Amino acid sequence: MEMIAARAALAALREGNRRFVNKLKTGSVSGVDSGGGARRRELPPPAVQAPGAIVLGCSDARVPAEIVFDQGLGDLFVIRVAGNIVAPSQIGSVEFAAAAFGTRLVVVLGHTNCGAIHATLEQLARPSREQSRNLRSIVDRIRPALESLLEQDPQRDPRTLEQQAVRANIRMSANQLRHGSQLLEQLIADDGLLVVGAEYSLETGVVEFFDGLPP
Ligand SMILES: [Zn+2]
Repeated sequence: MEMIAARAALAALREGNRRFVNKLKTGSVSGVDSGGGARRRELPPPAVQAPGAIVLGCSDARVPAEIVFDQGLGDLFVIRVAGNIVAPSQIGSVEFAAAAFGTRLVVVLGHTNCGAIHATLEQLARPSREQSRNLRSIVDRIRPALESLLEQDPQRDPRTLEQQAVRANIRMSANQLRHGSQLLEQLIADDGLLVVGAEYSLETGVVEFFDGLPP
């Protein structure tokens, strides 16, 4: 893994933002056609926020929601946290977007080869007291999904276990969003809010929606 010194990284971000602003000025920032394709790709973000979907994704640098779904400015309301876990601040963010913008699709987006899942499996296999309290708060949110997997079949081979763990964690997060708040429960029951789980493959780029899909 290449380590980038802070100053160089900061310079790259500044330069990148300058390029971005130039593209905005010249009208070549990518966006997407939403719905009937009425929106032109060249448009800057709409003045009013009206995202088509809320995405709770992992912070992994390789899985930026806007890029993997080919969406533009203003199209997605994205919450990213290591392991796409659900803590009160994530539920609050989803509540906010669903209530304020009327967005009716929530996607929990996990991915193959997730470092947070890996760290949790490690912690289950070899508990270490050295983990920081803050990192532990993430691992502790992932742990229940993996523990029930391990209970079902402790002899699973490690690769299969890791693959199933990623999906179990996505399912758990989606369920926590479905039942973690009165507001969201009510929007699901009465107002068409849909929470689905999906997995992004780092190997192929394909997002597979596998949880909570309408019949
Ligand atoms: Zn991850």
